[in-house]
Amino acid sequence: MSLKIYIDGKLVDREQAKVSVFDHCLLYGDGVFEGIRAYGGVIFREDEHVRRLYDSARAVMIEIPMTPGEFKKAMHDTMAANNLSDAYIRAVVTRGVGDLGLDPRKCPRPTVIVIAASIELYPDEFYKKGLDVITAGTRRIMSDALSPRVKSCNYLNNIMAKIEGIRAGCIEAVMLNARGEVAECTGDNIFILAGGVLKTPPPEAGILLGITRGAVIEIAREIGIGVQETVLTRHDLYVADECFLTGTAAEVIGVVSIDGRIIGDGKPGPTTGKLLKKFRELTRKG
Ligand code: PMP
Repeated sequence: MSLKIYIDGKLVDREQAKVSVFDHCLLYGDGVFEGIRAYGGVIFREDEHVRRLYDSARAVMIEIPMTPGEFKKAMHDTMAANNLSDAYIRAVVTRGVGDLGLDPRKCPRPTVIVIAASIELYPDEFYKKGLDVITAGTRRIMSDALSPRVKSCNYLNNIMAKIEGIRAGCIEAVMLNARGEVAECTGDNIFILAGGVLKTPPPEAGILLGITRGAVIEIAREIGIGVQETVLTRHDLYVADECFLTGTAAEVIGVVSIDGRIIGDGKPGPTTGKLLKKFRELTRKG
């Protein structure tokens, strides 16, 4: 059976799920999106994801032509049409079809797309061994140019850094902000454990406010680990006791080296392991 894709109110076969070459998301990266996971039929932090999508759209003045409730129904309908209970959901809202100019007023109606696919998990190896990462030379885009809190379809900034990572043999790369402080990775937030305290860059560092990041902060506080949202430098990363990344796809994944400096004893640390376990209990409790 062909995968069914939701596009503008209809569920169509993937072969028919097409957008116009005049859609401004294709022409200019003018759109917003979300990456969401469902576990056992339950969409994890559904309200938060939908809220972030609507906030991203509002910030760039895209009016999503449906209510948040209708959006949630579209996600559930797309999962049901594909018989999925564990899924990765990609929601995309583009500026819509216009002409070859930038002017968004030429795009009367945003295009709404929901793709639900079975999730391709990272190999277990990655969790056992941990990741090697580098710092990319490509800085995270400045918040006053385009807020990284907007999850826009304009990911070239992150892709440039990802290419640097890949060329260095790493699947993730740390991005610094214009001040040279640690911001986040190309598709994940970053945490360190230092002196028994969990530290992660604050929103002002110019990051996407990850939903996994938020859940991990809550879990840590619940189990008595102090959390600080604070400015981090590369030096802080190099001398950390533990380091891990958080994201919808990766969940919680240990980092064992940064720019060739070994973190801790070169294995994912015990606190990282504990937080991954707790996160998985939270997502899979049904
Ligand atoms: N930062 C960036 C740049 C991302 O693309 C993502 C993944 N969407 C994250 C952080 C992690 O966010 P979340 O936990 O909401 O998936």
